[in-house]
Amino acid sequence: MRVQLLPSTIDEDGKASARQHLMSIVIDDLVAIDAGCLAFSCTDLQRRQVRDVILTHPHLDHIAGLPLFIDDLFATLTVPIRVHAVREVIDILERDVFNWSVYPRFSDLMNKHGRVVEYHEFKAGSEISVEHLTITSVAVNHKVSALGYVISDGKVTVGITGDTAETDDIWSAFNAVSDLKAVLVECAFPNEMSELAAVSDHLTPQKLERELQKFDNAECEIYVINMKPMYRETILKQIGQLDTKRLKILDVGRVYEW
Ligand SMILES: [Zn+2]
Repeated sequence: MRVQLLPSTIDEDGKASARQHLMSIVIDDLVAIDAGCLAFSCTDLQRRQVRDVILTHPHLDHIAGLPLFIDDLFATLTVPIRVHAVREVIDILERDVFNWSVYPRFSDLMNKHGRVVEYHEFKAGSEISVEHLTITSVAVNHKVSALGYVISDGKVTVGITGDTAETDDIWSAFNAVSDLKAVLVECAFPNEMSELAAVSDHLTPQKLERELQKFDNAECEIYVINMKPMYRETILKQIGQLDTKRLKILDVGRVYEW
């Protein structure tokens, strides 16, 4: 399984930055988890191949690239972009984004081949099949309806927490997969912003370390994602000072093969 956290930010030298403003992970150049930067930084191959977008939740940093990804492909799509999400998220997209005020209601539009977007609703906690992947969703603890995922291609299984504060069920789901290869965990704020992390339902390095006590799998690799870009250096330093030495940082843009 090839997993890539797409870059979303450019440094002064014009190169992709490690800072992560937006969230989109592409699996096997085919399926996207979230679409924060999907239109901005996907490869040409990904733009040609990705037709399934699975959303964790509707916050801007996770959906910002979705309207533009559909817009870019509007005339050339021979199949619709399939947006997989729970009902609440679909309703928010239609009400607040694809409402003709913020952007066109693509679900009402067709190109010469047919529809350009299609919603595939599923229930939190259910298992769905998307392309060659089996994806189990688990409700997590965030400001809005939000999911983590356990994703398998039949050979390799990885987990993603999505945006979340302290939560139990996603760790139980990760514990249930004995050969889980890697989990991607959020850690949005530094320790001194613990109160804001609590109000906005995110984790800090200290909170994340406590969360990891719920995780039984000693072999699984653990990668941190979703660090607020302005606090990235502080968060990295604080992760380095934790007692646990298990945490690695997922490199933005790098293709991981598991
Ligand atoms: Zn969020």
